Amino acid sequence: MSATQSTIISKTSVRTLDAIVVGAGFAGLYMLHSLRKLGLNARIYEAASGPGGTWFWNRYPGARCDIPSLQYSYQFSDDLQQEWEWAERYASQPEILKYVEHVIERFKLRPDIQFNTRVQAAHLDEAAGRWQIQTSTGETVSAKFCIMATGCLSSTNVPDFKGLDSFRGKFYHTGQWPHEGVDFTGQRVAVIGTGSSAVQSIPLIAAQAAQLTVFQRTANFSVPAHNAPLDPAEQKRVKANYDELRTAGKNQLLAWDIDPNAKLAADATPAEIRAECERRWRMGGLYFYGVFADLLINPESNRVLAEFIRDKIHEQVKDPAVAELLSPKTVLGCKRICADTDYFQTYNRENVLLVDISKSGIDEITPQGLRVGGRDYAFDAIVFATGFDAMTGSINRVDVRGRHGQKLKDKWAAGPRTYLGLSSAGFPNFFIISGPGSPSVLTCMITSIEQHVEFITECIDYLRKHRLAHIEATVEAENRWVEHVNEVAGSTLFNSCSSWYLGANVPGKPRIFMPYVGFPPYVAKCNEIVAKGYEGFALTA
Ligand code: NAP
Repeated sequence: MSATQSTIISKTSVRTLDAIVVGAGFAGLYMLHSLRKLGLNARIYEAASGPGGTWFWNRYPGARCDIPSLQYSYQFSDDLQQEWEWAERYASQPEILKYVEHVIERFKLRPDIQFNTRVQAAHLDEAAGRWQIQTSTGETVSAKFCIMATGCLSSTNVPDFKGLDSFRGKFYHTGQWPHEGVDFTGQRVAVIGTGSSAVQSIPLIAAQAAQLTVFQRTANFSVPAHNAPLDPAEQKRVKANYDELRTAGKNQLLAWDIDPNAKLAADATPAEIRAECERRWRMGGLYFYGVFADLLINPESNRVLAEFIRDKIHEQVKDPAVAELLSPKTVLGCKRICADTDYFQTYNRENVLLVDISKSGIDEITPQGLRVGGRDYAFDAIVFATGFDAMTGSINRVDVRGRHGQKLKDKWAAGPRTYLGLSSAGFPNFFIISGPGSPSVLTCMITSIEQHVEFITECIDYLRKHRLAHIEATVEAENRWVEHVNEVAGSTLFNSCSSWYLGANVPGKPRIFMPYVGFPPYVAKCNEIVAKGYEGFALTA
């Protein structure tokens, strides 16, 4: 560590821990629980005033999970999964937060979570072999292990629109919604963006506001979620045989059971394709990913399946010109398919206007509203549903420095480089939960999180049992992994559009397909690496 670096980190009142966990979302909470079970002295530092991570911040109208609640939940404790009763097929954001609070109480995690404390810096002290952490509250923490549970979708992306500060009304980002809620009654509201957050919030904002104008840069595929109260009989049936559902999920690409169809659309007749598409439409939401096995592999199959959804959009939207604008021209599924409740029907309302900005973009924000293609629109409020600096944003916000003072952000300047998405060469005893290069955002996040937490816990236990001090990815293993992640993505249609998976939504962000496609092969690879004594990692005494 250089002299300059060491001055950044105050040496007064240092708290000494075995492990520091950054973030109190699903990842951080389970990590803390697991480290405690190992007998480690661990503590979570969380910037927010409460737990839940992305679910703490995303309180926009209509925010709910697009994976069924019976699957979007922890599975590490059978008692927990048996005792918790989900109210709806798809849990709303408040219900997810209640679940998080329940987990914290049940496993008595609260004493080791420190809220309102942002981790600002984590510097490796090479001589001591420890991480020195600096927080926004002025504390210094020394920990043997530093674990980033900072989430993939927690660093909001507000584009650098010209004139943003001049706007006289109020503006909001869906990912930083005011806790007290927002009343749009009688207001003229603009929503910028048409991704998952917009698709969920637009119908509710439209029902409340006097006038809603949606600015769409790229149309998105969306399938009705068919959310409903969860039938107690169905919940009981699932719980009686929960392992079956969980095992089925873990054996699938997305790490949750979407009832995948093994057949290829390329081998099916038009009537078979139609019937399966209709069945998926009735199942709702992301079950559409399971429609045919070649959806994300064969461009022609994808085109045919996409055509089905485009037809459905035309059936739902009365004005054919608006329906056409809302019909995506992109590859189906290369951006996350949205799950909606009355999204397309909302455009039939008299008080809703769709503005296509695919060619013009937004010129600027004016004191009164927006200027688009030279035309002025006046608003009382603007909602940015413009997404996140995904996967790397929240890690890069922390000043992480490893061996020889190297900044992680600098190392990742041309795109994130990790081994298994868990670790980065030059950063010993530093782990990332659901980092870039792991299946993470393509899967049911909680299932992926559990797999990572269990890998890290087992790894720390291994180090202790073998009297080893450090574990660190080798450069060679990391290079091979980065290449492999790209290769796998390249064999699919996932990287064929400008999605946030590629970092394409943030100007200047390197275009690298960040998540690893395929949960089961990923887990098999991790298990193989462990069985070979942590192949690809350097372990030092
Ligand atoms: P998103 O999918 O990245 O969508 C952002 C939207 O804003 C896109 O329509 C994008 O257009 C637009 N946009 C971005 N920058 C813009 C600019 N400068 N000018 C005009 N438009 C701009 O973000 P999100 O909707 O917040 O969703 C992100 C992810 O979070 C989802 O994919 C999903 O994984 C997760 N999520 C899940 C749920 C759920 O569980 N139901 C709900 C919300 C979010 P382009 O497409 O042209 O870039």
